[in-house]
Amino acid sequence: MGDLYAVIGNPIKQSKSPVIHSAFAKSTHQNITYTAIEGGAEDFVALTNAFQAAGGRGLNVTAPFKIEAYAYVAAHSPRAELAGAVNAIKFQDEQVIGENFDGLGLVRDLVCNLQQSLRGKRILLMGAGGATRGSFQQILAEGPSELVIADLFVESALTLASLGSRMGSVQGCDFDALRNEHFDVVINATSASLRGELPPVPASIFKGCEIAYELAYGLGLTPFLKMARDLGVTKLADGVGMLAEQAAESFAWWRGIRPDTKAVIDSITVPLS
Ligand code: NDP
Repeated sequence: MGDLYAVIGNPIKQSKSPVIHSAFAKSTHQNITYTAIEGGAEDFVALTNAFQAAGGRGLNVTAPFKIEAYAYVAAHSPRAELAGAVNAIKFQDEQVIGENFDGLGLVRDLVCNLQQSLRGKRILLMGAGGATRGSFQQILAEGPSELVIADLFVESALTLASLGSRMGSVQGCDFDALRNEHFDVVINATSASLRGELPPVPASIFKGCEIAYELAYGLGLTPFLKMARDLGVTKLADGVGMLAEQAAESFAWWRGIRPDTKAVIDSITVPLS
């Protein structure tokens, strides 16, 4: 049995992280064991303490524990600090350090895998939940002409916009304010697709749109992606690449070697049809 890593979340059965990290370990010849831990609503702290006591070296953290993980760790990376959420933990020499690789994963998938430049583009990021908190700074770091964050509750969007205002041009709004607006890049970071729902977006947002990106993955053509396709957007993607890229960042952080992601992405991609 190799060094111990795991993903913790609830539900966790659907998680692809054990498959992804086992493939990374094989391709980089690292001796690790990677499991999945299902946390109940209340027992994140107890389960994480027990994992560390059993010799655990690192954890990936998924919904609904990213905020609890932020409170749990003793030290935060600058990225985790700005996001106010942690999606990876390293246990090292009695230290417990929190990171957030969601934004790096998203931007790396868009820019490197999908060859979608964000520089100078007008970008719509829908949803102001955990995934957006972890991603908006990395998007701003790419130098878009403007980033618009839209949420059902305008206050949530405005809060994130004000946090990002030092890094570039960023606005917060509700979905009503998107009428007659159009964007080069449209990213759905709401959880609507997990329930087969469509965020209340006007058709105008897809006019001239270069790519529609859905953070949810493995669901095929979600209502959001279908709307984009029906309105003429030709480049569509789901979050499988983001998932693999943030996993690769965690792996590199823990093991000091960055695995290639292409084979893993190919093996877990569900066709968008
Ligand atoms: P959260 O629960 O933190 O946030 C969900 C967001 O979606 C909130 O802003 C919420 O708005 C909004 N929302 C929910 N339903 C609707 C709706 N019908 N219309 C419009 N807005 C809606 O979730 P996360 O941010 O953690 O995750 C968001 C998505 O990203 C999920 O699909 C998740 O699977 C995916 N994800 C993918 C990752 C990857 O690696 N590919 C990594 C992380 C997340 P409000 O709160 O105002 O109601």
